[in-house]
Amino acid sequence: MTSTGTAPAPAGLVAALDIGGTKIAGALVDDEGRIRLRARRATPAAEDGGNVMAAVAEVLDDLRSSPLWAEVRGVGIGSAGPVDRAAGAVSPVNIPGWRGYPLRERVGERVGGLPVELIGDGAAIAAAEHWVGAARGSSDALCMVVSTGVGGGLVLGGRVRQGSTGNAGHIGHISVDLDGDPCPCGARGCVEGLARGPAIARRALENGWRPDPGADASAVAVAAAARAGHPAAVASFARAGRALAASIAAVAALVEIEVAVIGGGVAGAGEVLFAPLREALPQYATLSFTRGLRVVPALTGPDAGLIGAAAAALGRLEA
Ligand SMILES: [Zn+2]
Repeated sequence: MTSTGTAPAPAGLVAALDIGGTKIAGALVDDEGRIRLRARRATPAAEDGGNVMAAVAEVLDDLRSSPLWAEVRGVGIGSAGPVDRAAGAVSPVNIPGWRGYPLRERVGERVGGLPVELIGDGAAIAAAEHWVGAARGSSDALCMVVSTGVGGGLVLGGRVRQGSTGNAGHIGHISVDLDGDPCPCGARGCVEGLARGPAIARRALENGWRPDPGADASAVAVAAAARAGHPAAVASFARAGRALAASIAAVAALVEIEVAVIGGGVAGAGEVLFAPLREALPQYATLSFTRGLRVVPALTGPDAGLIGAAAAALGRLEA
């Protein structure tokens, strides 16, 4: 295919990559946050680092094969963390073949000298929700994802706050239970261990809930049971909601936020999660300046990582 040469060029297109333990998503995104083209591969997370990079290269090659690529002026990468912004390197917990992997440089080699920005997935979520989502117009916000893990990012003073290494906003590993269960991170009682989907399912099972025959014991199934009034399912979401409320209140006390935005698969349970969270929040957010804090669902859905990576490529994040 060739470009017609007569259509007006978009004001700016960027390429975005969203790299996680299960999928590598790519997109071309315009300067209003709209996705114009998509590509995707499964992440060969158990394979060596070179094979993971080969999957990234395939996604980039799909994007580069489009005539739209001629309009691309930069590349943004949002990666599972930890990331090291200064080095342009990543060490995703769920991709063991990448430790200190020079992802920014490797992507740069595939895109012919275009500038490449690397951010953590938490910062990407915050950037996406602040740009086109539920934190739009808020100068101070916490944006979270609650799914198989719990992650997040911060908007402070109208800018995404990444921190010197790119990992600021890592709310999943705030402890909300001093003597709680050990967390794989080495601490105890982390909010992730209480609010992530598998924890919700496990706790419901321990208290007598059972999935339908042949069905998985997932947080989605627990949410359906909670909607039907099963006490163990209701209680499990209530505990997750309290853990999230305590962590959100801690952030509000530390840095003063107006809104906490929550997305991810577990947040897709809707009021089953949000109702107990909002009920618990005043028990933890007790100081005068935290009482007006709102908690709302995210709007960017599964595209948050791509849109946030695009925001980084467009220079919308902090310097
Ligand atoms: Zn932890």
